Amino acid sequence: MTATNSSASATGTDEVVLAVDVGGSAVKHAFAAANGASVQVTRTPLDPSARGSDAAAAVVDIVHRALSQAPPSVSCHQIGLVIPGIVDPEGGVGRYSVMLGWRDAPLRDMIERRCGLPVAVGHDVGAAALAEQEWGAARGHSHWLFLALGTGLGTAMMLEGRPYRGHNNWGGELAHVKVEPEGPTCPCGKTGCAETLFSGRGLALRYFERTGHHASVPEILERAESGEAAARQVWDRAVAALVLATTNAADSLNPSCIVVGGGLAAAGEALFAPLRAGLQDLVRFVEPVPELLPAALGADAGSYGAGLLAWRALNDRRSDVS
Ligand SMILES: [Zn+2]
Repeated sequence: MTATNSSASATGTDEVVLAVDVGGSAVKHAFAAANGASVQVTRTPLDPSARGSDAAAAVVDIVHRALSQAPPSVSCHQIGLVIPGIVDPEGGVGRYSVMLGWRDAPLRDMIERRCGLPVAVGHDVGAAALAEQEWGAARGHSHWLFLALGTGLGTAMMLEGRPYRGHNNWGGELAHVKVEPEGPTCPCGKTGCAETLFSGRGLALRYFERTGHHASVPEILERAESGEAAARQVWDRAVAALVLATTNAADSLNPSCIVVGGGLAAAGEALFAPLRAGLQDLVRFVEPVPELLPAALGADAGSYGAGLLAWRALNDRRSDVS
């Protein structure tokens, strides 16, 4: 995010919201103006041993400290919080997160009690997709698919401009779509889920199984491109899994574009070329094929999304009382 001036409030200070993006290993926060620009993104690491209710308490502490350290030039009346896993936005609850180890964490109530400000809660990938649609690569699109390729395989299906959430807030996820019936066992209990193959964690595990060596995704890709057969097979199998999950979703959803973000998007054409080829192969009577676009907001997309949720909640509240 870039520094900018935000709108001035009646008190002469710049009116902002506090945007909070909770990840598996750190919490990012920023004071965000209505136009999506923020004062500064600050990253606070989470103690990896703090899981479940301890992780939730650590998030509340970080939000409280961030507010207490707000610059005197800003006034903040709303918090936007985006979290990973299964999220209940209406209840403000983190239903389940493998990374953070919580179940039914009532984060909105905890933060509102501690900080005295209203909190809007959302799913991190869905909120990042909303931000890409508002300010990033998907401007002008309303039916589209967002791939957040990181340690896990995060996805959002945007239908009529909103993240599709389904019956139990699990809708739009491709991570656990089965792409290899006899594939690797997934922590979810199934076999052959897309995330066991194409994700930072999946690629590293599959490479270790093949070779007995640990390697990062950039190392695996570099080894594949320099001719190492094991790395090539692991990479190609992973990409085939992603292409299959994505094109099946595209055949069902009929998106106008697919936006690819997350750290693994840095693989570039090694990823984009097979995805593009896969999309060329969609059912022929829905031409033109969806555009394939790199995400525009980078690692801060979740923070932009948290800010967007907060501003929408604040504006809704104001229009309700006016
Ligand atoms: Zn699974």
